[in-house]
Amino acid sequence: MTLAGKTAVITGSNSGIGLGIAEELARLGSDIVLNSFTDNPEDHALAERIAEEHKVRAVYVAADMSNGDACRSLVAKAREAMGSLDILVNNAGIQFVAGIDEFPVEKWNAIIAINLSSAFHTTAAALPLMRAQGWGRIVNIASAHGLTASPFKSAYVAAKHGLVGLTKVTALETAEEPITANAICPGYVLTPLVEAQIPDTMKKYGMDRETVIREVLLERQPSKQFATTAQIGGCVAFLCSAAAEQITGTTLSVDGGWTAL
Ligand code: NAD
Repeated sequence: MTLAGKTAVITGSNSGIGLGIAEELARLGSDIVLNSFTDNPEDHALAERIAEEHKVRAVYVAADMSNGDACRSLVAKAREAMGSLDILVNNAGIQFVAGIDEFPVEKWNAIIAINLSSAFHTTAAALPLMRAQGWGRIVNIASAHGLTASPFKSAYVAAKHGLVGLTKVTALETAEEPITANAICPGYVLTPLVEAQIPDTMKKYGMDRETVIREVLLERQPSKQFATTAQIGGCVAFLCSAAAEQITGTTLSVDGGWTAL
């Protein structure tokens, strides 16, 4: 398949899953708009590297996904830079782990803003552009935690369940149009977000790294393997393919069997 001539905006894509998605869509010929909240030379260098490697156009646009206006202006700037916006991947996300009664309010607000509200704002800004163009694909990166819960992750689980709900509403509101909206629900993928949880867990349980990975992180992932960022990118590409034209409003689990348990 080819995505030549399309433009994809991927929020939170200077690292981890977002970067993996950008690489895969670029490999298939899509022009790419990378994003995060930082504005460092290495962010722009990442866009240059992707453009060169895959012979596509790629730019980096700094925008803080915790700010609704910034989310909307990311979409406008992407359109301005590339001339169209065909694929919107809402991927930016953060995590914080604590019991509900001890959960810092500012962490709750940040997680809801970045992991959920940002997708509302970018979708609201992108839909008129997709409608005018007559084609659009919205892919929300939710989580196995958009379908099931774990203790101590109240904000994350609430935001991801909310994102799955937003995906369904977006699909219904665009059902008769050539636009689809779906959510991908990864289990554990070894990215900086997950890597950051390993040292504390090692300390907490007095375990070595391998034991933490197998018995804590992958405890509920029956395959006992991490999903990869390239696999998530491949799933986004599939949802943008002709085969997926009638797939809308659904969730695609990439979790090694977690939600089959
Ligand atoms: P990551 O920390 O590597 O990447 C998160 C990205 O979001 C980074 O590019 C970061 O710069 C960006 N970001 C954070 N705050 C932002 C803000 N305010 N504005 C703009 N960008 C911001 O983590 P990841 O594991 O690649 O996570 C990506 C997405 O995948 C998240 O939504 C996460 O919840 C989801 N996810 C991850 C896993 C996993 O196991 N890694 C599993 C399920 C779902």
